[in-house]
Amino acid sequence: MRSLRPFTYLGDYINGTFTIPKEKSETFESLNPGNLKDTLGTFYASFSHVCLATEAAKQAFPKWRALSQEERALYLKKFYKEIETHLDQMAELIARETGKPLWEALQETQGLLGKITITLEEGTKLISEKEVPNAQPKLMGRYRYKPKGVMLVLGPFNFPAHLPHGHIVPALFTGNTVVFKPSEQTPAVGQFMAELIHRAQFPPGVFNLVQGEKEIGRRLCIEPGVDGILFTGSYDVGLKIKESTLSHFWKTIVLEMGGKNASIILDDASLEKALYENIKGAYLTTGQRCSATSRLILTEKIADSFLKEFHRLSKELKIGYAFEETPNIPFMGPLISQTSMEKYLRFQGIAQREGAEILMRGKALELTPSGYYVSPSIALLSPKKDSSTYLETEIFGPNVAVTIVKNLDEAIEEANKTDYGLVVSVFTKDKKAYEKVFQGTKTGLVNWNRSTVGGSSKLPFGGQGKSGNHFPTALFAPFYCTYPVACLEDAEDSIQETIPPGLSLDGKN
Ligand code: NAD
Repeated sequence: MRSLRPFTYLGDYINGTFTIPKEKSETFESLNPGNLKDTLGTFYASFSHVCLATEAAKQAFPKWRALSQEERALYLKKFYKEIETHLDQMAELIARETGKPLWEALQETQGLLGKITITLEEGTKLISEKEVPNAQPKLMGRYRYKPKGVMLVLGPFNFPAHLPHGHIVPALFTGNTVVFKPSEQTPAVGQFMAELIHRAQFPPGVFNLVQGEKEIGRRLCIEPGVDGILFTGSYDVGLKIKESTLSHFWKTIVLEMGGKNASIILDDASLEKALYENIKGAYLTTGQRCSATSRLILTEKIADSFLKEFHRLSKELKIGYAFEETPNIPFMGPLISQTSMEKYLRFQGIAQREGAEILMRGKALELTPSGYYVSPSIALLSPKKDSSTYLETEIFGPNVAVTIVKNLDEAIEEANKTDYGLVVSVFTKDKKAYEKVFQGTKTGLVNWNRSTVGGSSKLPFGGQGKSGNHFPTALFAPFYCTYPVACLEDAEDSIQETIPPGLSLDGKN
Protein backbone atom coordinates (compact mmCIF):
# COMPACT_ATOMS: atom_id res chain seq x y z
CA MET A 1 0.00 0.00 0.00
CA ARG A 2 1.26 3.49 -0.80
CA SER A 3 2.93 5.53 1.90
CA LEU A 4 1.10 8.76 2.67
CA ARG A 5 2.69 12.21 2.55
CA PRO A 6 3.20 14.12 5.81
CA PHE A 7 0.77 16.97 6.42
CA THR A 8 1.59 20.16 8.31
CA TYR A 9 -1.11 22.33 9.85
CA LEU A 10 -0.53 25.95 8.85
CA GLY A 11 -3.49 27.74 10.46
CA ASP A 12 -5.98 30.10 8.81
CA TYR A 13 -5.14 31.94 5.61
CA ILE A 14 -5.84 35.63 6.02
CA ASN A 15 -4.69 38.49 3.81
CA GLY A 16 -2.19 36.31 1.96
CA THR A 17 -0.56 34.76 5.05
CA PHE A 18 -1.06 31.52 6.97
CA THR A 19 -1.59 32.30 10.66
CA ILE A 20 -2.02 29.83 13.52
CA PRO A 21 -4.65 31.25 15.89
CA LYS A 22 -3.23 32.54 19.18
CA GLU A 23 -6.60 32.37 20.88
CA LYS A 24 -7.96 28.85 20.35
CA SER A 25 -11.75 29.07 20.52
CA GLU A 26 -12.39 25.57 19.09
CA THR A 27 -10.13 22.52 18.75
CA PHE A 28 -10.87 19.59 16.50
CA GLU A 29 -9.13 16.56 14.98
CA SER A 30 -9.07 15.35 11.42
CA LEU A 31 -9.22 11.57 11.51
CA ASN A 32 -9.22 9.12 8.61
CA PRO A 33 -12.62 7.33 8.91
CA GLY A 34 -11.18 4.41 6.97
CA ASN A 35 -8.53 3.36 9.50
CA LEU A 36 -9.13 5.48 12.65
CA LYS A 37 -5.35 5.76 13.12
CA ASP A 38 -4.18 8.16 10.45
CA THR A 39 -4.75 11.62 11.88
CA LEU A 40 -4.01 14.73 9.87
CA GLY A 41 -3.62 16.60 13.12
CA THR A 42 -5.31 18.99 15.46
CA PHE A 43 -6.90 22.11 14.00
CA TYR A 44 -7.84 25.31 15.80
CA ALA A 45 -10.49 27.91 15.26
CA SER A 46 -10.39 31.45 16.48
CA PHE A 47 -13.45 33.69 16.87
CA SER A 48 -11.26 36.75 16.27
CA HIS A 49 -10.24 35.38 12.86
CA VAL A 50 -13.87 35.62 11.70
CA CYS A 51 -13.67 39.40 11.71
CA LEU A 52 -10.04 39.57 10.50
CA ALA A 53 -10.73 37.38 7.46
CA THR A 54 -13.92 39.24 6.54
CA GLU A 55 -12.13 42.58 6.87
CA ALA A 56 -9.24 41.36 4.68
CA ALA A 57 -11.74 40.27 2.01
CA LYS A 58 -13.56 43.60 2.26
CA GLN A 59 -10.35 45.60 1.88
CA ALA A 60 -9.26 43.54 -1.14
CA PHE A 61 -12.61 43.84 -2.91
CA PRO A 62 -12.36 47.27 -4.66
CA LYS A 63 -9.06 46.48 -6.41
CA TRP A 64 -10.07 42.93 -7.34
CA ARG A 65 -13.42 44.12 -8.70
CA ALA A 66 -11.65 46.80 -10.75
CA LEU A 67 -9.62 44.21 -12.68
CA SER A 68 -10.95 43.09 -16.03
CA GLN A 69 -12.38 39.59 -16.42
CA GLU A 70 -9.32 38.73 -18.51
CA GLU A 71 -6.99 39.81 -15.70
CA ARG A 72 -8.89 37.78 -13.12
CA ALA A 73 -8.92 34.83 -15.52
CA LEU A 74 -5.10 34.88 -15.52
CA TYR A 75 -5.06 34.21 -11.77
CA LEU A 76 -7.57 31.40 -12.18
CA LYS A 77 -5.45 29.88 -14.94
CA LYS A 78 -2.47 29.88 -12.56
CA PHE A 79 -4.69 28.20 -9.96
CA TYR A 80 -5.63 25.61 -12.63
CA LYS A 81 -1.93 24.86 -13.19
CA GLU A 82 -1.35 24.44 -9.45
CA ILE A 83 -4.27 22.03 -9.14
CA GLU A 84 -3.05 20.10 -12.19
CA THR A 85 0.45 19.78 -10.69
CA HIS A 86 -0.93 18.64 -7.34
CA LEU A 87 -3.83 16.41 -8.42
CA ASP A 88 -2.42 13.33 -6.75
CA GLN A 89 -1.62 15.10 -3.49
CA MET A 90 -5.09 16.64 -3.37
CA ALA A 91 -6.75 13.28 -4.10
CA GLU A 92 -4.71 11.64 -1.34
CA LEU A 93 -5.93 14.19 1.21
CA ILE A 94 -9.55 13.81 0.05
CA ALA A 95 -9.33 10.02 0.39
CA ARG A 96 -7.69 10.32 3.83
CA GLU A 97 -10.25 12.73 5.26
CA THR A 98 -13.45 11.33 3.69
CA GLY A 99 -12.47 7.66 3.37
CA LYS A 100 -13.69 7.57 -0.25
CA PRO A 101 -11.63 5.30 -2.54
CA LEU A 102 -8.60 6.93 -4.12
CA TRP A 103 -10.02 6.45 -7.65
CA GLU A 104 -13.09 8.43 -6.67
CA ALA A 105 -11.01 11.13 -4.97
CA LEU A 106 -9.01 11.46 -8.21
CA GLN A 107 -12.27 11.94 -10.14
CA GLU A 108 -13.16 14.72 -7.72
CA THR A 109 -9.86 16.51 -8.38
CA GLN A 110 -10.32 16.21 -12.18
CA GLY A 111 -13.66 17.96 -11.73
CA LEU A 112 -11.85 20.96 -10.23
CA LEU A 113 -10.03 21.55 -13.51
CA GLY A 114 -13.23 21.21 -15.55
CA LYS A 115 -14.97 23.74 -13.31
CA ILE A 116 -12.34 26.40 -13.99
CA THR A 117 -12.48 25.85 -17.77
CA ILE A 118 -16.28 25.97 -17.89
CA THR A 119 -16.46 29.06 -15.69
CA LEU A 120 -13.97 30.94 -17.83
CA GLU A 121 -15.59 29.90 -21.10
CA GLU A 122 -19.33 29.77 -20.35
CA GLY A 123 -19.54 32.00 -17.26
CA THR A 124 -18.26 34.94 -19.31
CA LYS A 125 -21.11 34.47 -21.80
CA LEU A 126 -23.80 34.26 -19.12
CA ILE A 127 -22.96 37.57 -17.50
CA SER A 128 -21.72 39.48 -20.50
CA GLU A 129 -22.89 43.03 -20.98
CA LYS A 130 -26.01 43.45 -23.15
CA GLU A 131 -26.90 46.48 -25.26
CA VAL A 132 -30.65 47.17 -25.58
CA PRO A 133 -31.37 49.76 -28.32
CA ASN A 134 -34.63 51.67 -27.77
CA ALA A 135 -34.88 50.64 -24.14
CA GLN A 136 -36.95 53.80 -24.09
CA PRO A 137 -37.84 55.55 -27.36
CA LYS A 138 -34.56 56.44 -29.12
CA LEU A 139 -32.60 55.72 -25.96
CA MET A 140 -29.83 53.17 -25.54
CA GLY A 141 -30.19 50.77 -22.65
CA ARG A 142 -27.62 48.40 -21.28
CA TYR A 143 -27.38 45.91 -18.49
CA ARG A 144 -24.14 44.96 -16.87
CA TYR A 145 -23.32 42.58 -14.04
CA LYS A 146 -21.42 43.67 -10.95
CA PRO A 147 -19.92 41.50 -8.19
CA LYS A 148 -21.63 41.57 -4.81
CA GLY A 149 -18.63 41.88 -2.49
CA VAL A 150 -17.45 39.42 0.15
CA MET A 151 -18.73 35.88 -0.43
CA LEU A 152 -18.68 33.40 2.45
CA VAL A 153 -18.35 29.82 1.23
CA LEU A 154 -19.38 27.07 3.68
CA GLY A 155 -18.39 23.59 2.54
CA PRO A 156 -19.69 20.07 3.29
CA PHE A 157 -17.51 17.03 3.96
CA ASN A 158 -18.60 14.72 1.12
CA PHE A 159 -16.96 16.58 -1.78
CA PRO A 160 -14.62 18.73 0.28
CA ALA A 161 -12.78 20.20 -2.71
CA HIS A 162 -15.26 20.07 -5.60
CA LEU A 163 -18.29 21.66 -3.93
CA PRO A 164 -16.65 24.70 -2.29
CA HIS A 165 -14.57 25.14 -5.45
CA GLY A 166 -17.87 25.27 -7.39
CA HIS A 167 -18.70 28.48 -5.49
CA ILE A 168 -15.18 29.88 -5.07
CA VAL A 169 -14.19 29.89 -8.75
CA PRO A 170 -17.25 31.74 -10.10
CA ALA A 171 -17.21 34.12 -7.10
CA LEU A 172 -13.59 35.09 -7.76
CA PHE A 173 -13.97 35.19 -11.53
CA THR A 174 -16.90 37.60 -11.33
CA GLY A 175 -14.92 39.96 -9.06
CA ASN A 176 -15.96 38.99 -5.53
CA THR A 177 -13.56 38.22 -2.72
CA VAL A 178 -13.97 35.08 -0.64
CA VAL A 179 -13.87 33.77 2.90
CA PHE A 180 -13.98 29.96 2.92
CA LYS A 181 -14.80 27.74 5.88
CA PRO A 182 -14.36 24.06 5.05
CA SER A 183 -16.18 21.31 6.90
CA GLU A 184 -14.59 20.56 10.27
CA GLN A 185 -14.45 16.95 9.05
CA THR A 186 -12.20 17.84 6.11
CA PRO A 187 -10.01 20.76 7.22
CA ALA A 188 -6.81 19.48 5.58
CA VAL A 189 -8.40 19.52 2.12
CA GLY A 190 -9.54 23.08 2.85
CA GLN A 191 -6.04 24.11 3.86
CA PHE A 192 -4.58 22.50 0.75
CA MET A 193 -6.94 24.51 -1.47
CA ALA A 194 -5.69 27.67 0.25
CA GLU A 195 -2.09 26.54 -0.32
CA LEU A 196 -2.75 26.17 -4.05
CA ILE A 197 -4.40 29.59 -4.21
CA HIS A 198 -1.39 31.01 -2.36
CA ARG A 199 0.94 29.43 -4.92
CA ALA A 200 -1.15 30.97 -7.70
CA GLN A 201 -0.27 34.37 -6.14
CA PHE A 202 -3.72 35.89 -5.89
CA PRO A 203 -3.54 39.40 -4.37
CA PRO A 204 -3.66 39.30 -0.53
CA GLY A 205 -7.18 39.23 0.91
CA VAL A 206 -8.89 38.08 -2.30
CA PHE A 207 -9.19 34.56 -0.87
CA ASN A 208 -9.19 33.77 2.85
CA LEU A 209 -9.58 30.55 4.81
CA VAL A 210 -11.03 30.22 8.30
CA GLN A 211 -11.15 26.81 9.93
CA GLY A 212 -13.80 25.91 12.46
CA GLU A 213 -16.88 24.06 13.51
CA LYS A 214 -20.49 25.22 13.51
CA GLU A 215 -20.06 28.20 15.85
CA ILE A 216 -17.42 29.69 13.55
CA GLY A 217 -19.82 29.06 10.64
CA ARG A 218 -22.63 30.81 12.49
CA ARG A 219 -20.46 33.79 13.40
CA LEU A 220 -19.25 34.14 9.82
CA CYS A 221 -22.85 34.17 8.56
CA ILE A 222 -23.83 37.05 10.84
CA GLU A 223 -20.68 39.08 10.16
CA PRO A 224 -21.96 42.41 8.75
CA GLY A 225 -19.14 42.57 6.16
CA VAL A 226 -20.37 39.40 4.44
CA ASP A 227 -22.47 40.15 1.35
CA GLY A 228 -23.32 36.61 0.30
CA ILE A 229 -23.44 33.14 1.90
CA LEU A 230 -22.81 30.27 -0.49
CA PHE A 231 -23.69 27.17 1.51
CA THR A 232 -23.64 23.51 0.56
CA GLY A 233 -24.80 21.20 3.32
CA SER A 234 -27.79 19.76 5.12
CA TYR A 235 -31.32 21.16 5.25
CA ASP A 236 -31.14 21.52 9.04
CA VAL A 237 -28.08 23.76 8.86
CA GLY A 238 -29.48 25.65 5.86
CA LEU A 239 -32.53 26.46 7.95
CA LYS A 240 -30.32 27.63 10.86
CA ILE A 241 -28.46 29.94 8.47
CA LYS A 242 -31.76 31.42 7.28
CA GLU A 243 -32.89 31.92 10.88
CA SER A 244 -29.63 33.48 12.05
CA THR A 245 -29.59 35.96 9.15
CA LEU A 246 -33.26 36.91 9.24
CA SER A 247 -32.49 40.60 9.70
CA HIS A 248 -29.54 40.56 7.25
CA PHE A 249 -31.83 41.22 4.30
CA TRP A 250 -28.98 42.53 2.12
CA LYS A 251 -27.20 39.17 2.01
CA THR A 252 -27.60 36.74 -0.84
CA ILE A 253 -28.17 33.36 0.79
CA VAL A 254 -27.56 30.45 -1.54
CA LEU A 255 -28.54 27.11 -0.02
CA GLU A 256 -27.61 23.87 -1.81
CA MET A 257 -29.03 21.20 0.48
CA GLY A 258 -29.94 17.54 0.76
CA GLY A 259 -32.08 15.12 -1.20
CA LYS A 260 -34.30 12.06 -0.94
CA ASN A 261 -34.05 11.19 -4.59
CA ALA A 262 -36.26 8.72 -6.38
CA SER A 263 -35.44 6.54 -9.34
CA ILE A 264 -38.45 5.18 -11.23
CA ILE A 265 -37.90 1.96 -13.15
CA LEU A 266 -40.67 1.08 -15.61
CA ASP A 267 -41.46 -2.33 -17.09
CA ASP A 268 -39.85 -1.55 -20.44
CA ALA A 269 -36.50 -0.43 -18.97
CA SER A 270 -33.25 -2.12 -19.94
CA LEU A 271 -32.63 -4.29 -16.87
CA GLU A 272 -28.85 -4.30 -17.16
CA LYS A 273 -28.59 -0.55 -17.54
CA ALA A 274 -31.11 0.16 -14.80
CA LEU A 275 -29.19 -2.12 -12.44
CA TYR A 276 -25.82 -0.56 -13.18
CA GLU A 277 -27.07 3.02 -12.95
CA ASN A 278 -29.03 2.46 -9.75
CA ILE A 279 -26.30 0.56 -7.94
CA LYS A 280 -24.06 3.54 -8.70
CA GLY A 281 -26.80 5.96 -7.68
CA ALA A 282 -27.48 4.28 -4.37
CA TYR A 283 -23.98 3.38 -3.19
CA LEU A 284 -21.32 5.63 -4.72
CA THR A 285 -19.58 7.59 -1.94
CA THR A 286 -21.27 5.13 0.45
CA GLY A 287 -24.58 6.87 -0.26
CA GLN A 288 -23.18 10.15 1.03
CA ARG A 289 -24.22 12.28 -1.95
CA CYS A 290 -26.98 14.88 -2.01
CA SER A 291 -28.02 13.26 -5.29
CA ALA A 292 -27.88 9.65 -4.02
CA THR A 293 -30.70 7.35 -5.07
CA SER A 294 -32.39 6.70 -1.75
CA ARG A 295 -35.73 5.55 -3.20
CA LEU A 296 -36.38 3.00 -5.92
CA ILE A 297 -39.86 2.97 -7.40
CA LEU A 298 -40.46 -0.16 -9.49
CA THR A 299 -43.43 -1.10 -11.65
CA GLU A 300 -44.85 -4.55 -10.99
CA LYS A 301 -43.60 -6.52 -13.98
CA ILE A 302 -39.94 -5.64 -13.61
CA ALA A 303 -39.92 -5.50 -9.79
CA ASP A 304 -38.99 -9.13 -8.97
CA SER A 305 -36.21 -9.54 -11.49
CA PHE A 306 -34.78 -6.10 -10.74
CA LEU A 307 -34.86 -6.56 -6.97
CA LYS A 308 -33.30 -10.02 -7.10
CA GLU A 309 -30.34 -8.74 -9.10
CA PHE A 310 -30.09 -5.46 -7.19
CA HIS A 311 -29.91 -7.42 -3.94
CA ARG A 312 -27.24 -9.75 -5.35
CA LEU A 313 -25.09 -6.84 -6.57
CA SER A 314 -25.55 -5.02 -3.25
CA LYS A 315 -24.19 -8.06 -1.39
CA GLU A 316 -21.21 -8.38 -3.72
CA LEU A 317 -19.98 -4.78 -3.61
CA LYS A 318 -16.38 -4.43 -2.54
CA ILE A 319 -16.17 -2.24 0.55
CA GLY A 320 -12.87 -1.21 2.06
CA TYR A 321 -9.96 1.09 2.70
CA ALA A 322 -9.41 3.95 0.25
CA PHE A 323 -5.81 3.00 -0.55
CA GLU A 324 -6.24 -0.73 -1.21
CA GLU A 325 -4.62 -1.86 -4.43
CA THR A 326 -5.61 -4.34 -7.17
CA PRO A 327 -7.37 -6.76 -6.71
CA ASN A 328 -8.81 -5.22 -3.51
CA ILE A 329 -9.70 -1.75 -4.77
CA PRO A 330 -13.08 -0.97 -3.14
CA PHE A 331 -16.23 0.41 -4.77
CA MET A 332 -17.05 2.28 -1.58
CA GLY A 333 -15.36 3.25 1.67
CA PRO A 334 -16.62 3.96 5.18
CA LEU A 335 -19.14 6.49 6.44
CA ILE A 336 -17.61 9.75 7.61
CA SER A 337 -17.98 9.35 11.39
CA GLN A 338 -19.19 7.34 14.34
CA THR A 339 -22.26 9.61 14.49
CA SER A 340 -23.11 8.90 10.84
CA MET A 341 -22.67 5.19 11.40
CA GLU A 342 -24.96 5.23 14.44
CA LYS A 343 -27.60 7.18 12.50
CA TYR A 344 -27.41 4.71 9.63
CA LEU A 345 -27.81 1.70 11.92
CA ARG A 346 -30.60 3.39 13.89
CA PHE A 347 -32.60 3.91 10.71
CA GLN A 348 -32.58 0.16 10.01
CA GLY A 349 -34.72 -0.23 13.13
CA ILE A 350 -36.88 2.80 12.36
CA ALA A 351 -37.69 1.43 8.88
CA GLN A 352 -38.69 -1.92 10.38
CA ARG A 353 -40.80 -0.37 13.13
CA GLU A 354 -42.62 1.64 10.49
CA GLY A 355 -43.61 -1.56 8.72
CA ALA A 356 -40.93 -1.93 6.06
CA GLU A 357 -39.74 -5.40 5.13
CA ILE A 358 -35.95 -5.43 5.47
CA LEU A 359 -34.58 -7.19 2.39
CA MET A 360 -31.00 -6.49 3.34
CA ARG A 361 -30.01 -5.16 6.75
CA GLY A 362 -27.22 -2.63 7.03
CA LYS A 363 -24.59 -3.73 9.54
CA ALA A 364 -21.34 -2.36 10.91
CA LEU A 365 -18.47 -4.23 9.23
CA GLU A 366 -15.32 -5.31 11.01
CA LEU A 367 -12.67 -4.86 8.36
CA THR A 368 -8.92 -4.43 8.41
CA PRO A 369 -8.04 -1.65 8.87
CA SER A 370 -11.03 -0.88 11.03
CA GLY A 371 -13.21 2.15 10.30
CA TYR A 372 -16.81 3.28 10.01
CA TYR A 373 -17.63 0.63 7.42
CA VAL A 374 -21.20 -0.54 6.89
CA SER A 375 -22.94 -2.90 4.50
CA PRO A 376 -25.65 -1.58 2.14
CA SER A 377 -29.30 -1.93 3.08
CA ILE A 378 -32.59 -2.35 1.22
CA ALA A 379 -36.06 -1.92 2.69
CA LEU A 380 -39.32 -2.78 0.92
CA LEU A 381 -42.15 -0.36 1.70
CA SER A 382 -45.87 -0.50 1.39
CA PRO A 383 -47.01 2.21 -1.06
CA LYS A 384 -50.07 3.01 1.04
CA LYS A 385 -48.16 4.63 3.88
CA ASP A 386 -48.60 8.39 3.89
CA SER A 387 -46.13 9.57 6.48
CA SER A 388 -42.88 7.95 7.49
CA THR A 389 -39.85 9.29 9.34
CA TYR A 390 -37.76 6.73 7.51
CA LEU A 391 -38.96 7.90 4.13
CA GLU A 392 -38.74 11.59 4.92
CA THR A 393 -35.22 11.62 6.38
CA GLU A 394 -32.02 11.97 4.40
CA ILE A 395 -30.08 9.09 5.94
CA PHE A 396 -26.86 9.83 4.03
CA GLY A 397 -25.71 6.23 3.89
CA PRO A 398 -25.97 3.26 1.50
CA ASN A 399 -29.68 2.70 2.04
CA VAL A 400 -32.50 2.34 -0.47
CA ALA A 401 -36.23 2.27 0.18
CA VAL A 402 -38.12 0.29 -2.47
CA THR A 403 -41.75 0.79 -3.42
CA ILE A 404 -43.61 -1.34 -5.96
CA VAL A 405 -46.34 0.42 -7.93
CA LYS A 406 -48.81 -0.48 -10.68
CA ASN A 407 -48.05 2.19 -13.26
CA LEU A 408 -46.33 5.47 -14.09
CA ASP A 409 -49.02 7.64 -12.47
CA GLU A 410 -48.58 5.84 -9.16
CA ALA A 411 -44.82 6.05 -9.56
CA ILE A 412 -44.98 9.84 -9.95
CA GLU A 413 -47.25 10.08 -6.93
CA GLU A 414 -44.72 8.07 -4.88
CA ALA A 415 -41.79 10.13 -6.15
CA ASN A 416 -43.52 13.28 -4.94
CA LYS A 417 -43.93 11.97 -1.37
CA THR A 418 -41.03 14.02 -0.05
CA ASP A 419 -40.33 17.61 0.94
CA TYR A 420 -36.97 17.42 -0.82
CA GLY A 421 -36.73 18.10 -4.55
CA LEU A 422 -33.25 17.57 -5.92
CA VAL A 423 -33.17 14.77 -8.54
CA VAL A 424 -35.54 12.25 -10.06
CA SER A 425 -34.60 9.59 -12.61
CA VAL A 426 -36.76 7.46 -14.86
CA PHE A 427 -35.72 4.29 -16.69
CA THR A 428 -37.84 3.56 -19.75
CA LYS A 429 -37.59 3.33 -23.52
CA ASP A 430 -40.61 5.61 -23.83
CA LYS A 431 -39.69 9.27 -24.21
CA LYS A 432 -43.29 10.26 -23.45
CA ALA A 433 -43.01 8.62 -20.03
CA TYR A 434 -39.85 10.66 -19.39
CA GLU A 435 -41.76 13.80 -20.40
CA LYS A 436 -44.58 12.84 -18.01
CA VAL A 437 -42.08 12.49 -15.15
CA PHE A 438 -40.57 15.83 -16.11
CA GLN A 439 -44.01 17.47 -15.97
CA GLY A 440 -45.31 15.64 -12.91
CA THR A 441 -42.41 16.09 -10.44
CA LYS A 442 -40.84 19.08 -8.75
CA THR A 443 -37.06 18.68 -8.72
CA GLY A 444 -34.14 20.68 -10.05
CA LEU A 445 -32.79 17.73 -12.08
CA VAL A 446 -34.63 15.10 -14.12
CA ASN A 447 -32.59 12.28 -15.67
CA TRP A 448 -33.66 9.83 -18.35
CA ASN A 449 -32.02 6.37 -18.19
CA ARG A 450 -29.26 7.81 -16.03
CA SER A 451 -28.92 7.53 -12.28
CA THR A 452 -29.67 10.40 -9.94
CA VAL A 453 -25.94 10.93 -9.23
CA GLY A 454 -23.40 12.61 -11.47
CA GLY A 455 -24.45 16.16 -12.31
CA SER A 456 -22.73 18.19 -15.00
CA SER A 457 -20.88 21.50 -14.50
CA LYS A 458 -22.21 22.48 -17.91
CA LEU A 459 -25.79 22.51 -16.59
CA PRO A 460 -27.47 24.23 -13.64
CA PHE A 461 -27.53 22.19 -10.40
CA GLY A 462 -29.98 23.00 -7.63
CA GLY A 463 -33.05 21.75 -5.86
CA GLN A 464 -36.59 22.65 -4.92
CA GLY A 465 -38.30 22.40 -1.53
CA LYS A 466 -35.91 21.35 1.23
CA SER A 467 -33.15 20.83 -1.35
CA GLY A 468 -32.53 24.42 -2.35
CA ASN A 469 -33.74 28.00 -2.43
CA HIS A 470 -33.85 28.76 -6.14
CA PHE A 471 -30.22 29.71 -6.67
CA PRO A 472 -28.90 26.82 -8.77
CA THR A 473 -25.14 26.42 -8.82
CA ALA A 474 -22.76 24.78 -11.38
CA LEU A 475 -23.22 26.58 -14.73
CA PHE A 476 -25.56 29.17 -13.20
CA ALA A 477 -23.25 30.17 -10.29
CA PRO A 478 -22.17 33.45 -11.97
CA PHE A 479 -25.78 34.68 -11.61
CA TYR A 480 -25.86 34.51 -7.82
CA CYS A 481 -22.34 35.96 -7.57
CA THR A 482 -23.42 39.14 -9.38
CA TYR A 483 -26.30 41.57 -9.64
CA PRO A 484 -27.52 43.16 -12.86
CA VAL A 485 -27.37 46.93 -13.19
CA ALA A 486 -29.69 48.57 -15.71
CA CYS A 487 -28.32 51.69 -17.40
CA LEU A 488 -30.10 54.24 -19.60
CA GLU A 489 -27.48 56.03 -21.73
CA ASP A 490 -27.97 59.39 -23.41
CA ALA A 491 -24.91 60.94 -25.04
CA GLU A 492 -26.83 63.97 -26.42
CA ASP A 493 -26.73 67.42 -24.75
CA SER A 494 -30.18 68.34 -26.02
CA ILE A 495 -33.38 67.01 -24.42
CA GLN A 496 -34.52 64.05 -26.49
CA GLU A 497 -38.17 63.87 -25.50
CA THR A 498 -41.28 66.04 -25.44
CA ILE A 499 -41.38 68.16 -22.30
CA PRO A 500 -44.56 67.39 -20.33
CA PRO A 501 -47.27 70.04 -19.98
CA GLY A 502 -46.97 72.32 -16.95
CA LEU A 503 -43.17 72.52 -17.10
CA SER A 504 -41.34 75.32 -18.91
CA LEU A 505 -37.55 75.44 -18.95
CA ASP A 506 -37.40 78.98 -20.48
CA GLY A 507 -39.85 80.54 -17.97
CA LYS A 508 -42.56 81.21 -20.66
CA ASN A 509 -45.21 79.06 -19.05
P1 NAD B 1 -23.63 20.16 7.33
O1 NAD B 1 -24.87 20.89 7.02
O2 NAD B 1 -23.55 19.43 8.61
O3 NAD B 1 -22.37 21.17 7.32
C1 NAD B 1 -22.07 21.98 6.21
C2 NAD B 1 -21.22 23.16 6.66
O4 NAD B 1 -22.01 24.04 7.47
C3 NAD B 1 -20.01 22.79 7.50
O5 NAD B 1 -18.92 23.57 7.09
C4 NAD B 1 -20.44 23.14 8.91
O6 NAD B 1 -19.37 23.44 9.78
C5 NAD B 1 -21.27 24.37 8.65
N1 NAD B 1 -22.22 24.70 9.72
C6 NAD B 1 -22.78 23.86 10.66
N2 NAD B 1 -23.64 24.55 11.44
C7 NAD B 1 -23.64 25.83 11.00
C8 NAD B 1 -24.33 27.01 11.39
N3 NAD B 1 -25.22 27.01 12.39
N4 NAD B 1 -24.11 28.16 10.70
C9 NAD B 1 -23.25 28.17 9.66
N5 NAD B 1 -22.54 27.08 9.25
C10 NAD B 1 -22.74 25.93 9.91
O7 NAD B 1 -23.37 19.19 6.08
P2 NAD B 1 -22.35 17.98 5.91
O8 NAD B 1 -22.71 16.89 6.84
O9 NAD B 1 -20.95 18.48 5.90
O10 NAD B 1 -22.69 17.54 4.41
C11 NAD B 1 -23.73 16.67 4.09
C12 NAD B 1 -24.98 17.42 3.68
O11 NAD B 1 -24.72 18.27 2.57
C13 NAD B 1 -26.08 16.48 3.18
O12 NAD B 1 -27.32 16.92 3.66
C14 NAD B 1 -25.99 16.59 1.67
O13 NAD B 1 -27.17 16.24 1.00
C15 NAD B 1 -25.66 18.04 1.53
N6 NAD B 1 -25.05 18.31 0.23
C16 NAD B 1 -25.76 19.04 -0.69
C17 NAD B 1 -25.23 19.25 -1.96
C18 NAD B 1 -25.97 20.04 -3.01
O14 NAD B 1 -25.33 20.45 -3.98
N7 NAD B 1 -27.26 20.23 -2.90
C19 NAD B 1 -23.98 18.72 -2.27
C20 NAD B 1 -23.29 18.01 -1.29
C21 NAD B 1 -23.83 17.81 -0.04
